[in-house]
Amino acid sequence: MEEIIIKNQPILSKVLNKINNTKYSSQAYILYGNSKEKLKEYALLFSKILVCPHNYQKNCEKCNICMRIDNNNFEELKIIEPINYMIKKDEILKLRNLFSTQSIEGRNQVYIITDVETLNISAANSILKFLEEPDSNSVAIFTTTNLDGVIKTILSRCQTIKINNLKNKYGIEFIKELTFFDEDTIYKIIDFTKLIEKDITKAIADIKHEFIDLFDDKQKLISAINVMLLYYKDMLNYKISQKCVYFESNDVKTLANKQKTNIISKKISFILENISKLEYNVNVLLFMENLIIGIGEIKDDKSNRS
Ligand SMILES: [Zn+2]
Repeated sequence: MEEIIIKNQPILSKVLNKINNTKYSSQAYILYGNSKEKLKEYALLFSKILVCPHNYQKNCEKCNICMRIDNNNFEELKIIEPINYMIKKDEILKLRNLFSTQSIEGRNQVYIITDVETLNISAANSILKFLEEPDSNSVAIFTTTNLDGVIKTILSRCQTIKINNLKNKYGIEFIKELTFFDEDTIYKIIDFTKLIEKDITKAIADIKHEFIDLFDDKQKLISAINVMLLYYKDMLNYKISQKCVYFESNDVKTLANKQKTNIISKKISFILENISKLEYNVNVLLFMENLIIGIGEIKDDKSNRS
């Protein structure tokens, strides 16, 4: 089955894949992060995965239910948003009543409550009763930008999911979120990139063991090449502004100092031009060999003049 990969959101992706693969979900989730828009966007995606009667795939466009969710026209998904910073108890009671009498068309009935920190005690109590109902097919998705402000009894019944906001992140943390790789894997990619720069013959000989074998599918390989690309971009950053953005290390600086700015730029363009080829059915080993040989052939004009 195709994996659901939501860029920069490894935790959310993991939870959604688990639901999609097992068809089992908790009764309540809370998504928290800095951006209200992103939270709502992911809450809607989440609800599709809970409701879609098929195995949800990227762009589940043919599915009537997912289409109706997109058009805000699916009765078994209710979205409650606060009015004047308040979610009224009445709204919750109405929802309970509706869901308890309704026949079920999707796999679950889902309600999204945004800005859940604005719930007052009596509305929160109604939700708690709702969550405690046995044999319920309803799943709650709460969102908040203020996790500390959420009533504790609600929070304790939810699986919490952090939604990353990448805007303020740099360095290895940024790359971890971008790629799903752990630090160890990221450093292996860096080591291999350094090897390309230092000893290309050895790099070609080691491609399979030191690189390709670490990544068991194409998506991961593409992510790995993207890390490589960031390494070259950091060489360029250092050339231009004497500052690294992702990798604060002397190796980046040494490798940057060894070559001219336009050579590094050419290498970056070359990788970018080639990376999309991996989307097609290519022989991965051959692809990587050609990529590395290609990078190696980009040299200063003087040494090419033979
Ligand atoms: Zn669907």
